[in-house]
Amino acid sequence: MTTPDTQQPTAVIVGGGQAGLATAFYLRRAGVPFVILDDQPGPGGAWRHAWPSLRLFSTAEFSNLPGRPMPRYDGFPPATHVVDYLASYEARYGFTVERPVHVTGVTWSAGRYTVHGMTDTGPRTWTAPHVVAATGTWSAPFVPALPGTFGGRQWHTVTYPGPAAFRGSTVAVVGGANSGAQIAAELALAAAESGDGGTGSGNPVTWYTRHPPRWMPDDVDGRALFRRNRSRALTVARGEPDPGADTSLGDIVMVPAVRRARDAGLLTATPMVDSLDDIATDHLIWCTGFRPALGPFRSLLSHGIPRQPGLHLVGYGDLVGPGAATITGVGMYAKQVAGEIATGTATQP
Ligand code: FAD
Repeated sequence: MTTPDTQQPTAVIVGGGQAGLATAFYLRRAGVPFVILDDQPGPGGAWRHAWPSLRLFSTAEFSNLPGRPMPRYDGFPPATHVVDYLASYEARYGFTVERPVHVTGVTWSAGRYTVHGMTDTGPRTWTAPHVVAATGTWSAPFVPALPGTFGGRQWHTVTYPGPAAFRGSTVAVVGGANSGAQIAAELALAAAESGDGGTGSGNPVTWYTRHPPRWMPDDVDGRALFRRNRSRALTVARGEPDPGADTSLGDIVMVPAVRRARDAGLLTATPMVDSLDDIATDHLIWCTGFRPALGPFRSLLSHGIPRQPGLHLVGYGDLVGPGAATITGVGMYAKQVAGEIATGTATQP
């Protein structure tokens, strides 16, 4: 029997993480047939690859996709909780996600898109008048270009395996946002606890940031960022100018490990150097963020904007809108795109 998702799809969703699933939720509600293609072996999107100690920066009640809330969790949930949630979300709505399918390119001709993918059994194509790009950012880590040479081993947030790999070594952590703070804190605490270093003398972790860290108040968690993002998104949706982020609130959430390391004097930032020649540690971990993983759509975009109707972007953060990359924030963008597909009113670029 053919399921509704695979009958002559009106939309092909590329990416089976939270953004793809939220879009599927609203397309299903609108009765629009779709397929979801994802290159992972199972549910969870990028959350499958998070480093072992990563925790959400808000509690489960504030990390919901449309329809089915995240199951309860005491404290800040680990990434495994999100993976389980996304798996149960797919199951709850009976979404068929075709896996693993790596989409290699998307082309457009006479009002239809052709999605080219590589499956376990070889190349395959799907065609539809609409394509939703929901590929996230995890597969496009960003490393800034710096002059000079670093002689040690380089890592990125995406490859950080947890502190054990760095025991007894010196480490430079580069990046003044949440992942840099969390990884630097974890490494510094692990080193202090194992006797590899300690407060003031010989902390083997140097945390490089381009600007002084902007800590959020200790009693505020990621909910404040979500509220700020939502209010920005609603303002933009009303056609008013984007008020921008409220930088006075800060942007590093004081999750327990970050707070502990800061309070122990283990988490002080060093101004970023101008050349890699000035970093002499054994390891260098780039916590310098990501770019939208839009490679397969490149020929269809101009500065990140689709060249013709029927191609939609969901997730990705500020390229799409405030909060679009977050679990709780993606729903409003998914709903808007599903509405455009259902009514055939995709905005002309
Ligand atoms: P993804 O989860 O990356 O899903 C995209 C899917 O598409 C993946 O399965 C990917 O493999 C697949 N894909 C990519 N390219 C292709 C291709 N060519 N063909 C087929 N499939 C493809 N948000 C919060 O709300 N709370 C938090 O606490 C939080 N913490 C974060 C911490 C870190 C370190 C990071 C990096 C992000 C965090 N986020 C958080 C932001 C956000 O929730 C995640 O980035 C989330 O994974 C984004 O979901 P997504 O569906 O847009 O992308």
